Amino acid sequence: MTSGATHASGELISIEEARRRILETVRPLEAETVPVAEALARVLAADVAATGDVPPFAASAMDGYALAEARAGDSLPVRGEARAGAPSRSPLSPGTAVRISTGAELPDGAAAVVRQEDVEVGESAITLMVDVRAGDNVRPAGEVMRAGSAVLAAGARLGPAELAAIVAAGAGSVRVARRPRVAVLCTGDELRAPGEPLGEGEIHNSNAPMLRGLAALGGAEPLPSAILPDDRAVTEAGLAAALEAADVVLVSGGVSVGPHDHVKPALAALGVRQVFWGVALQPGKPTWFGARGDALVFGLPGNPVSAAVTYALFAAPALAALQGAAQPLPPRRTVHLGAQVRRNPAREQALRVRLEHGPEGELAFPNGPQASHHITSLLGADALALIPRGEGTLQPGQPVAIEPTAWS
Ligand code: AMP
Ligand code: MG
Repeated sequence: MTSGATHASGELISIEEARRRILETVRPLEAETVPVAEALARVLAADVAATGDVPPFAASAMDGYALAEARAGDSLPVRGEARAGAPSRSPLSPGTAVRISTGAELPDGAAAVVRQEDVEVGESAITLMVDVRAGDNVRPAGEVMRAGSAVLAAGARLGPAELAAIVAAGAGSVRVARRPRVAVLCTGDELRAPGEPLGEGEIHNSNAPMLRGLAALGGAEPLPSAILPDDRAVTEAGLAAALEAADVVLVSGGVSVGPHDHVKPALAALGVRQVFWGVALQPGKPTWFGARGDALVFGLPGNPVSAAVTYALFAAPALAALQGAAQPLPPRRTVHLGAQVRRNPAREQALRVRLEHGPEGELAFPNGPQASHHITSLLGADALALIPRGEGTLQPGQPVAIEPTAWS
């Protein structure tokens, strides 16, 4: 059991520690079988092996002629044709050739294919311009996958290439983790729905489409979002409904220490156990995380940049772990800074950066103004650069760790 740190008492935990506590809290979701056509962005719950050889038969790699071994200058009469999906009806007779298309099954008796560019086509025969050896321009059966061989392991995220590979391997449906249901609640009296006219002091609720979109990109099923006014009772009722419906609740705003921040007391009243509150992170210090049973709750800061960054750093790995992803944390790598960055003595920074190729390798440049209300810093960002806390300024050329954003 972990203790719930409070930043009210000044105790901020590191990104690493926050992630450790999140991953320790996650209970992976059960698996289900879905048609491959619906499996994009899902995570495999079982290993996939090839049900047969791929290709299933020896096939031509070229448009040309199937034949036995032969020499340049040989002339062979052409008897019949083998097309993709329509093999030759009779085997190759010795001393002849069969017209063949790319992907067609090699006729019995044939050892090779000569490309049509490498023959002269006469009235009733072809004359070879090249020597032909057994195996030329032939894709042997099982060359790509052997029947029974491993194709993908449980925990793999299914992108378009993975879907192609498992279909080629013979699968029509696939075992994947159930999609986590994600509820997005945005707190704030100032929030108006997209496109609505704004009254005095009001702003548009940009976090809802962003967080629902991020969840969808992470393989989740986003539930309809709701705006919660800064009212304790309504906040509690909204959270109660979300906890009934969702595996993960993302609440934006209302987790700071202001008099109108009702999320924490409402969650406490609903029996949601605090795992942490407060990360030594800029932007994203007031991030809150807790759980009730298997349901997870993230209290993300209201500022759109903070919400995006804390989603990427904390909620995205949780969604991946819920789905049993082999690597729930985004892959880190080191590049070099392209510009000066002032360090924050108290908090690690997650800068939105653009990557450019320089002569010495990749360079990370801050993607415009970095304040947490500058939503434009998210646009076109290639990565998050993680700047350790400390004194002074980092210089161009110094190494910096980056992680992919959850949105680019
Ligand atoms: P809070 O975390 O509630 O103190 O909000 C911090 C800042 O983020 C304030 O300027 C809010 O107006 C803004 N904000 C809160 N929620 C949203 C939202 N859903 N969309 C856009 N901005 C928001
Ligand atoms: Mg607020």
